[in-house]
Amino acid sequence: MSSNPDNPATANTDWLDKHGLSDRQRLFVLAYLDTPNATQSAEKAGYRHGKTQGPRLLDNVGVRNAIKEGRAMIEQKLMLDAEGIARMWADIATADPNELTQHIHAPCRFCWGQGHEYQWKTEREFRETKARKVFDLFSDDDLREAEMAGTIEDPRIPDDAGGYGYRLTDDPNPDCPECSGLGIEVSRMSDTRKLKGGAKLLFDGGKISRLQMVAHFSVRFSEGSLTIHS
Ligand SMILES: [Zn+2]
Repeated sequence: MSSNPDNPATANTDWLDKHGLSDRQRLFVLAYLDTPNATQSAEKAGYRHGKTQGPRLLDNVGVRNAIKEGRAMIEQKLMLDAEGIARMWADIATADPNELTQHIHAPCRFCWGQGHEYQWKTEREFRETKARKVFDLFSDDDLREAEMAGTIEDPRIPDDAGGYGYRLTDDPNPDCPECSGLGIEVSRMSDTRKLKGGAKLLFDGGKISRLQMVAHFSVRFSEGSLTIHS
């Protein structure tokens, strides 16, 4: 027979061995644990007259004990599931959203530039920005070359008087005349692969909706037709 893999009593049936049941009685117990209907369960187990055999099977002491044990297993599993779910919601409720996003105050480009001039990250950044500007402003090749070589001064072309070494990870300069030490605010999402605990659940929450969780929860509960008092 097909058994419900989520049902701890029917997923593995070794626990039934000690009850000394016939093969058909075992099948009846398993069917009854999935759906507590004596007639249907007897028919599923292969009894020809389910309507009369079903109730009779429920009177059998061995069958009754087996059902009792199976239900206890299901109940225990449901309690563990419920506990796990409750713990998960508690973790979400107490999670720190700051773990998901980080706001940092980085220096502005003038904070640490020489003479508080615009500071470039690297020479490459300066060179490429300058080349783009020259290319945009001039169409004549000779002029472009002269601009790149620096033989013609043009205020529209960026210079590197502020020097290099700008880094977002530095602190703003409190003496900066441009930003007064406030710097610029940079937000970034945490590396979600490294999230743990509640923050990870918060992030996963974007993928698993509350509705899905509730649906999952209800299915588990109806399986054992139990009342859980929380
Ligand atoms: Zn600044």
